[in-house]
Amino acid sequence: MEPTIISGKEVSNSVKDEIALEVEKIKSSGGKTPHLAAILVGEDGASRTYVNAKVKACERVGFGSTLVKLDADTSEEELLNTINQLNNDNDIDGFIVQLPLPSHIDEQKVTEAIAPGKDVDGFHPVSLGKMLLDLPSFLPATPAGIVEMLRHYNIPTEGKHCVVIGRSHIVGSPMSVLMARNANPGNCTVTLTHSRTQNLNEICASADILIVAIGKPEFVTADMVKEGATVIDVGIHRIEDSSKKSGFRLLGDVKFDEVAAKCEFISPVPGGVGPMTIASLLKNTLLAVQLKS
Ligand code: NAP
Repeated sequence: MEPTIISGKEVSNSVKDEIALEVEKIKSSGGKTPHLAAILVGEDGASRTYVNAKVKACERVGFGSTLVKLDADTSEEELLNTINQLNNDNDIDGFIVQLPLPSHIDEQKVTEAIAPGKDVDGFHPVSLGKMLLDLPSFLPATPAGIVEMLRHYNIPTEGKHCVVIGRSHIVGSPMSVLMARNANPGNCTVTLTHSRTQNLNEICASADILIVAIGKPEFVTADMVKEGATVIDVGIHRIEDSSKKSGFRLLGDVKFDEVAAKCEFISPVPGGVGPMTIASLLKNTLLAVQLKS
């Protein structure tokens, strides 16, 4: 059976269409244009691409956007001051600080400096705590985008075994929480795996839904996947390739061709989880506006 390729591009477009309609309604009833800001520190190529894509997505849905670019040698104090300015700027509904940050800056300190009401990346302890308690909050953008994909394709989750590879604070851990929630999508029995997990291959091969956020190119191979499984690939890797105009090609954490042959549903890289992360960020920004009013 041919696998269904989950198109993050298609799902994110439908999410963006819904948001654009909401923005129209807000504007036509005299409300303020939602406004998302992003802080980019340094010149990392991938980060610049992500931030530019986020700004472009704002235009697509009718949001205002602001990009604050800071030099790579910006001090932690200067960055915290910039965050404080955005916290106090009434025109900015939500903002993100693009990660990773230069090594002289403490990412946790930066995350905690963002006002919880503007934390549209959903990384602040208040947002994560509210997620655990099922309270309305900003869900971390990548896991929330994956839930949206599962919903869009009506992929059954209740009672299924979901295996998550990776326990990062921004992807794997919150993903495991969302898949275990009493919700649809959700209600899975979840196994969260990491670098100390024993028998990883066997555990993965028992998954109905396998979500891979390990950060190692093409780590998951066909022998790790059950026939008929759903596989979601979060990884993004730029691999040098002189035959490409950009000089690189993108690979995920999953060896796509051989794994796809066993799957019922699989998300590709690029065009899978990436666009969904941006759509969730826009959704969170709209929520920031709604929670304020
Ligand atoms: P991360 O912080 O590097 O975490 C990687 C996780 O994988 C860790 O929990 C680590 O375990 C685990 N791991 C490492 N080696 C392992 C092994 N051999 N077996 C089992 N687990 C292992 O990564 P991340 O930030 O979650 O990102 C993961 C990938 O997703 C990266 O490629 C990143 O670029 C991509 N990403 C994509 C998006 C998007 O929008 N598409 C968003 C975010 C991230 P320990 O905890 O034990 O070290």
